[in-house]
Amino acid sequence: MANPSLLILAGDGIGPEVMDEVKKVISWMGSARGIHFDVSEDLVGGCAYDAHGTPLTDATMAKAQEVDAVLLGAVGGPKYDKLDFSVKPERGLLRLRKEMDLFSNLRPAQCFDALADFSSLKRDVVAGLDIMIVRELTSGVYFGEPRGIFKEGNERVGINTQRYTESEIARVAKSAFELARRRNNKVCSMEKANVMESGILWRDVVTEVHQRDYQDVELSHMYADAGAMQLTRWPKQFDVIVTDNLFGDLLSDLAAMLTGSLGMLPSASLGAPMANGRPKAMYEPVHGSAPDIAGQGKANPIACILSFAMALRYSFDMGDEAARVEKAVEKVLADGLRTADLLGPEGGSPIGTAAMGDAIIAALNETL
Ligand code: NAD
Repeated sequence: MANPSLLILAGDGIGPEVMDEVKKVISWMGSARGIHFDVSEDLVGGCAYDAHGTPLTDATMAKAQEVDAVLLGAVGGPKYDKLDFSVKPERGLLRLRKEMDLFSNLRPAQCFDALADFSSLKRDVVAGLDIMIVRELTSGVYFGEPRGIFKEGNERVGINTQRYTESEIARVAKSAFELARRRNNKVCSMEKANVMESGILWRDVVTEVHQRDYQDVELSHMYADAGAMQLTRWPKQFDVIVTDNLFGDLLSDLAAMLTGSLGMLPSASLGAPMANGRPKAMYEPVHGSAPDIAGQGKANPIACILSFAMALRYSFDMGDEAARVEKAVEKVLADGLRTADLLGPEGGSPIGTAAMGDAIIAALNETL
């Protein structure tokens, strides 16, 4: 069988710096585990604009459609802030998500024991936390029509429309149930069925999908505002949370911050299965291009490395190898190694991006 294929789009700012450390892990998988990937690289974001006048060329888009998974670093930076909206670096990212139809956004909130004191919540509330937010990513109020700012009498009115079709809800619900089966088999669906018709339909369709195909998974429903409270009160009650684009945007940021630094947070965006059965997929850290520290070798590469671990698990069905990477990260943190973003108020001596990558490789070697 051909090697699985990866397209690396490192992007701007700290993107290439953290991606260099992911490349070490990819090479390690080949040399130590005999798992080889066909890796190609291309430009996205500001660097693509500099080279081609567009944040994503058609040729790069076509490559992204062909590979088994895309690994993305980060895009953007102050240099590009004044560009026209149509060629801003973020448009490259949005085009990838849209044309690959990546409707299911997976945002884990996992608390490594060594960082439990980093959270704004008490240690016992977050220690050992491992939940997954599944956010619908391609529909809902960010895309619904009509939208705009209109004149009504002598004042302006801003309009956005929350719109979901049954099939859009069903496919993201299915993705959450499938995920739950690989985890602790529980899904909590969140909407506002008490005040929104789209929420009533959401609850109906999630229940139908559950009744039809996933009765073995435990399903509960919660209003999204109550969900936000429960996430801060006792987040460990959840396993998988599935919710729409807007609520998912808020709840996934809230859940992520339960666990500490932006430099630790991976994500996956998945679409429909391709001919080979693998989902269309893009993996990326949640953080941006961090222009304030770019080029200084200070960035934390863990979010990007954990995004690659998600690729191993969700694109290539290599859960054991993903767990090996996660265990190596846990080990270096337990050993007290910290990039600057992971130092608490008491300070300490940080290590740099490359040293953190090397420490993770050393910890991977210890798993053999
Ligand atoms: P950011 O995530 O880039 O940075 C926020 C803060 O977190 C900064 O202080 C930064 O130094 C720190 N930080 C982020 N990642 C880190 C890491 N791996 N290690 C250590 N520290 C880290 O968000 P921002 O400053 O609001 O945005 C900067 C640029 O990134 C903007 O152009 C924005 O549009 C873009 N952006 C891109 C993405 C993406 O590519 N997915 C996401 C968010 C923001």
